Amino acid sequence: MPDRIYNFSAGPATLPYEVLTQAAKDIVNFNNTGIGLIEMSHRSKEFMAVAAEAESLLREVMGIPNNYKVLFLQGGASTQFAMVPMNLLSPGQTATYLNTGTWSKNAIKEAKLFGNVDVAYSSESSNFNHVPASKDYEIAPESQYLYFVSNNTIFGTQFHNFPETDKPLVADMSSDIMWRPIDVSKFGLIFAGAQKNMGPAGVTVVIIRDDLIGRSKNYLPTMFDYKTHADKDSMFNTPPCFAIYVVGLVLKWLKNLGGLAAIEKINREKAALLYEKIDSTDFYRGHARTDSRSMMNITFNLPTPELEAQFIKEATAKGMSGLKGHRSVGGCRASIYNAFPREGVAKLVEFMTEFENRNR
Ligand code: PMP
Repeated sequence: MPDRIYNFSAGPATLPYEVLTQAAKDIVNFNNTGIGLIEMSHRSKEFMAVAAEAESLLREVMGIPNNYKVLFLQGGASTQFAMVPMNLLSPGQTATYLNTGTWSKNAIKEAKLFGNVDVAYSSESSNFNHVPASKDYEIAPESQYLYFVSNNTIFGTQFHNFPETDKPLVADMSSDIMWRPIDVSKFGLIFAGAQKNMGPAGVTVVIIRDDLIGRSKNYLPTMFDYKTHADKDSMFNTPPCFAIYVVGLVLKWLKNLGGLAAIEKINREKAALLYEKIDSTDFYRGHARTDSRSMMNITFNLPTPELEAQFIKEATAKGMSGLKGHRSVGGCRASIYNAFPREGVAKLVEFMTEFENRNR
């Protein structure tokens, strides 16, 4: 892999090398058609096959039941913050939200435009260092759905047990979709921007149970109605063709690797390497409470901001980029999504030991 460094970016994030090289070829000439993939009509038989394959691989890899639609939408995960309440909440109705970080806060703000929001739990007073267990909050009986963020990208926390409820469960899985197998039938709606675990920025995957489509009493703009996209197989308008194609390649890569059970094992091994390092010393301090630690984004601090800046500078010089934490937590963040190689984690841990020995 010439000219490649270890990219710990939180997203857009590192992709499998073989996916990048295949995409680079297909951009110029897709399947010997003499046309590049990004120049092709979205209604051409070639692209329709690409989109159909991406959907069927997603269904296969995630085990999505037949009573769910898979939509490939635009506008980023942030557009879903509004589309979810627009489609699932009518005026005067209530929805329950768990506030576990920046992305749930943004979603709560949007939901308030469309109905009543009951924030059943917030970890804000501890700077979002944990996620709640189901016993920690109550859901109002009249609530229309329970919304949570499965992995808090900025704070490095993750739900290891999903909320238990008989309400439709809505999850923002932007930063941990497909990190392990899940039971999709427990969810009403799952959405995720592609740019961490699935592909490039530009497409947001929405997995929605059939009965939740078309039940809003709101007057919805056509593009903001899930029904529009469900009825037309995400081809109502021009879809994000290139992003969908790359998602398909990433899914093929994941399937060849052994699917979600195989990637879970690798992800747990990678995260364990880093958390063992953090736990072995007081030089590095993890931000997340141990029961809430993310397997995707590992957040930690050093004794002083000066040492943190030095650490990031030296790591960058050694070919490890993207380690600066988000400004709301400070410190460092190592994002190690599905495609991030194990050797990169080992290299970081080795550097952490060496840096500590020199600077403690
Ligand atoms: N949800 C989560 C968990 C995220 O990490 C992000 C962004 N990184 C978003 C939502 C917002 O995604 P987008 O930039 O695609 O709108």
